[in-house]
Amino acid sequence: MPETSTAAAGRPPPIIVVGGGHAGVQLVAALADAGASAGVQLVCDELWAPYQRPPLSKQFLRDERLDLNPLRPERWYLERGVELLAGDEAVQIDRQHRSLRLGSGRVLPWSRLVLATGARARRLPGLHDGLENVHTLRQAADAQRLRHALAHADELTVIGGGFIGLEVAASARLMGRRVRVIETRARLLSRSVSPALADHALQHHRAQGIEVHLGAVVSAWEHDEHRLQAVIVDGRRLPVDQLVLGVGALPRTQLAQDAGLACGDGVLVDACLRSSDPAILAIGDCARCTPADGGSPLRLESIQNAQDQARVAAATLLGDPRPYRPQPSFWSEQGALRLQMSGLLPAGGTGEPPVRSVRRPLAGGDGFSLLHYAGDQLVCVESANAPMDHMIARKLLEAGRTVAPQAAADPRQRLHDWL
Ligand SMILES: Cc1cc2nc3c(=O)[nH]c(=O)nc-3n(C[C@H](O)[C@H](O)[C@H](O)COP(=O)(O)OP(=O)(O)OC[C@H]3O[C@@H](n4cnc5c(N)ncnc54)[C@H](O)[C@@H]3O)c2cc1C
Repeated sequence: MPETSTAAAGRPPPIIVVGGGHAGVQLVAALADAGASAGVQLVCDELWAPYQRPPLSKQFLRDERLDLNPLRPERWYLERGVELLAGDEAVQIDRQHRSLRLGSGRVLPWSRLVLATGARARRLPGLHDGLENVHTLRQAADAQRLRHALAHADELTVIGGGFIGLEVAASARLMGRRVRVIETRARLLSRSVSPALADHALQHHRAQGIEVHLGAVVSAWEHDEHRLQAVIVDGRRLPVDQLVLGVGALPRTQLAQDAGLACGDGVLVDACLRSSDPAILAIGDCARCTPADGGSPLRLESIQNAQDQARVAAATLLGDPRPYRPQPSFWSEQGALRLQMSGLLPAGGTGEPPVRSVRRPLAGGDGFSLLHYAGDQLVCVESANAPMDHMIARKLLEAGRTVAPQAAADPRQRLHDWL
């Protein structure tokens, strides 16, 4: 094991954070707020300083003049004594010697390691890698490539009617492209929102001129050496100009797996975000966490989750553990449609309290919220173009309050009054 600079200088090894995404940067910020960021190293495999990911499928895609939106200015890291190691991938964890090997060959000692490696876009079997008009979207480099292609395209085919697929479809439609979405399931957004909200999104996108095929399966891909020419869907040949795969993401766990940490659709962590090796934590999209209330292990892909877990991890590192209690929350902008979700949709299985959903129209607008109850308790709120109502309903959820369903359905009644 080569001697490392901090060891040589007699200083204790630092905390290292692997992954400069929303979780990694929020963790550094929480440590900085506690005056504990000096010496922290943030390792990022991307070439850019950490940036906002959500715009990549929205405004960034539509406007070639837009730059990446940095999460923090570069001097912010400097001023807090944080060393930003961009463009270098963490490739191997040595748990015995507590060191981390980077792609550049550097070996860094650590006292505690935090994995914030995010997720990668899922690909589909049978579709060759490297076709120039096939895209996935996860990172800035993907978005730049797709943006350039869309600027010169006539048509876009999107495989997958989830959030990313629909955001990209809506962006391309706003750019005047012909757009079709191919979704295997019988409805859009089937993993994440209620059927009623999904149906609203379907009506919206069709009204914008997006062709949506539901329950549709790609049975073959027709391509030459360089380009995908067409997809065969339910026996029909659909010619392709550009194609985006929006079929979900897989947690980036290779580093953790190679180091022998317990993994299973994410790095498995306890409510304080500690992995099976308590000196190594995992947060954000890459972590599957058993929450404090002992509920089922959960892996969430959202900014809110990344930031909440980062704060919990900082508390753990600072020796003041505050177990994670998930308050799931997500938003998605699909052209003129803004969807927001807070809480978890009740499953409504046998033995569960009965599930009831109430629609609350927005007074004087075309937006609405759906309030979902398990028994009498408000457990989830979904909104379409109703940001104020959503914000108040979310506060109710966070405070564990509820609002009588009859009152919730009446837009003249103020949700405020139940806070
Ligand atoms: C296009 C797009 C739009 C989105 N829109 C929304 C939205 O509107 N609302 C919302 O709530 N969420 C949205 N999300 C999800 C949200 O961005 C993620 O949940 C969030 O970024 C997760 O944060 P993270 O830090 O866990 O992972 P990431 O932000 O993905 O960051 C992980 C970082 O770690 C790096 N990394 C991985 N492995 C290594 C390694 N071995 N060495 C060094 N670096 C490594 C990755 O390259 C990446 O930079 C969107 C996601 C995408 C891709």
